[in-house]
Amino acid sequence: MATVKTAGLGYPRIGEKREWKLLLESYWSGKTEREEFLNQMKELRIRRLRRLQASGIDYVPVGDFTLYDSMLDHSTAFGLIPERFASLPSRDALDVYFAMARGATGAPASEMTKWFDTNYHYLVPEWTAKSAPSLVRNPWLEAFSEAKQELGIVGRPVLIGPYTFVRLSKGIAPGELQGKLKSLLPAYIQAITELTNAGAEWIQIDEPSLVTDVPEEHAEWLQSVYGQLKASVPAAKLLVQTYFGPVARLEKIKLLPVDGIGLDFVRDGGANAEVIERTGWPADKVLGAGVVDGRGIWRVDPDLALGKLNRLAARTAPGRLIVQPSSSLLHVPVSSRLETSGDEVVRHAFAFADEKLEELVALAKDLENGTKSPRLEENRQALAALQAHPARNRVSSVASESVRAPRASFEERRVLQQKKFNLPPLPTTTIGSLPQTADIRRARVEWRKGHIDQAKYEEILREKTALWIRRQEELNIDVLVHGEFERTDMVEHFGHLLDGYHFTGNGWVQSYGSRCVKPPVIYGDVVARDAMTVADTLYAQSLTSRPVKGMLTGPITMLAWSFSRDDLSKAEIAFQIARALNVEVLRLEEAGIGMIQVDEPALREIAPLRRGEWKEYLDWAVGAFRESVGGVKNETQIHTHMCYCDFHEILPAIEAMDADVISLETSRSHGALVEALREEPYANGIGLGVYDIHSPVVPDTQEMLGVIRSALSVVPSDRLWVNPDCGLKTRGETEALAALRNMTEAAVLARQELAAGK
Ligand code: GLN
Ligand code: ZN
Repeated sequence: MATVKTAGLGYPRIGEKREWKLLLESYWSGKTEREEFLNQMKELRIRRLRRLQASGIDYVPVGDFTLYDSMLDHSTAFGLIPERFASLPSRDALDVYFAMARGATGAPASEMTKWFDTNYHYLVPEWTAKSAPSLVRNPWLEAFSEAKQELGIVGRPVLIGPYTFVRLSKGIAPGELQGKLKSLLPAYIQAITELTNAGAEWIQIDEPSLVTDVPEEHAEWLQSVYGQLKASVPAAKLLVQTYFGPVARLEKIKLLPVDGIGLDFVRDGGANAEVIERTGWPADKVLGAGVVDGRGIWRVDPDLALGKLNRLAARTAPGRLIVQPSSSLLHVPVSSRLETSGDEVVRHAFAFADEKLEELVALAKDLENGTKSPRLEENRQALAALQAHPARNRVSSVASESVRAPRASFEERRVLQQKKFNLPPLPTTTIGSLPQTADIRRARVEWRKGHIDQAKYEEILREKTALWIRRQEELNIDVLVHGEFERTDMVEHFGHLLDGYHFTGNGWVQSYGSRCVKPPVIYGDVVARDAMTVADTLYAQSLTSRPVKGMLTGPITMLAWSFSRDDLSKAEIAFQIARALNVEVLRLEEAGIGMIQVDEPALREIAPLRRGEWKEYLDWAVGAFRESVGGVKNETQIHTHMCYCDFHEILPAIEAMDADVISLETSRSHGALVEALREEPYANGIGLGVYDIHSPVVPDTQEMLGVIRSALSVVPSDRLWVNPDCGLKTRGETEALAALRNMTEAAVLARQELAAGK
């Protein structure tokens, strides 16, 4: 019997060919009946378990499969169903479940937000003063029993822990956190008791919130909560699993009264390992050693992983070390077997979920026997080839901003730019993309299939741009856009046009609900090739005397929404991308484009999970943005755009970006932002989105006027811009036109009020 065991913490649910997505969408559209849908889901679940079983790992996770989202599974299992869903026509559990996920008439969906710093979105649990959680269903028991009956697997049920559950909930005031945590305990005790009675041995309890800032008193609560849990179900072996970084207060957390603790040794920057080296590991505890990157797509470096494992083995009692991924494999595609096209060296270096399971088993063997398994020998070769790839050895990573003359102050630039563009007060503009109607999407499909040629495709796109330039003029918008009709995705589009990116054939990961994305892979140095946007922008500009903004995706967003290499730091990769984009920015300027927008919607998203690390991150993130727009003339107006985050948290960084104009989404947190701007005035041009582009409802002129008025209470009238929250690509043409008409009308009314001195 091997003494070094292996565990999977969670596995993709979408299926190798996105079967999960298709099943869900077919059910939602009414094409599949309920019973058939549930049967097909069961089949998918069983196939998935078979793979896990066949991989040879010792602990197979169960209960992490879901029909939508695991956090939602917990909310419904605990009976935390917001009141607005009580009056739905159907009280059926599955109907209510999907209503919470997707919304129903009169009952908006639960809020969705990013799962830590990943691109996965979970549904936020909602509490009210009346919430009284209890275990109304036990989905983990259902999953455990299924795996046992169908395949004889004694699975390791995966629950999200009570601490993380309350930390990620809404409707809990800071002073109520401990009370709510306690109120959840009986539900957890019951769920775990039932699991133990059914034959479960280990229970995995995920507490990723332990890698965020954990106040001292929370560490105390955790001791007591886990103490009670353990005392109530002494037969259960509890493993508290953390991931996405080093655990805060590990010296304390490692003493939790549980049977094992799982740690991330990939994204911990060495900090978890350091605490263990320095202070040891409790002899009675299992250590889950996450040494295979659960969020990256490259093969594990066996020597690095075995080095870590050997050091940890020296600190743990015999038989107490488990080799595992650093997190659930939910964040990587299913299998690299299907990658059959594109650069072979790159493809050969991939390890997706299935390959990572193989790696775990091989690592455990080599660790135990001191052998060098062929499986890992293959990794050594594949990674060496990748490292020697000519695309990895193209550029140096030295920042070049320092050698450039800095731009003049914003005040000086503003005067020059005003002279050049002569815009009215409260200038109106949009964020970049305009409705991508069916005809454009059809043309793209035809073009990709080779049914129409490049020239024809471009002609169709240009017709759209021409149409919309006329429309924007008719609407009397001041700063125009070409419409981004050529882009499906703002990162993928540029990835294809820059060097250093690889595109997988089937590398899908779940983003939210049934939506999956296929992130590009940065494998080499990112370098500019031909001009990417100059022709389209110039074409649009040739049709109008009003300024047309050039439109690019910023370096942080290009990095955040891709898989990237791990031989360079994130900062180094961001600076490479920034320099490649800068080539384009200067080309646009050279071609006569006077306004250039560089979007950074992901800037806040990849901020570290601990506040203490924000400064360092924001320094390089802002530096990369500045690098991307560096070297332009003072007359050239640099715009940027950000959305869907709490901007008030990062106002100083936004200021440091020093764009001439920033447009921000504000429909979700207008009030908070206005308050923050009152405290900390922002000097440059700023547009606070006046309407939410996600709603198909045409916004009312007076409502938007109200938003402008309140913005004017904190932004001087010669700095304020008027724009929607975000791009309009998902909207229909009629609604977009109506909404923009009302928006420009609101701007006119606001200008009249200004002129009248109101
Ligand atoms: N320029 C992009 C657009 O308008 C920005 C998208 C975004 O912020 N996510 O679509
Ligand atoms: Zn946006």
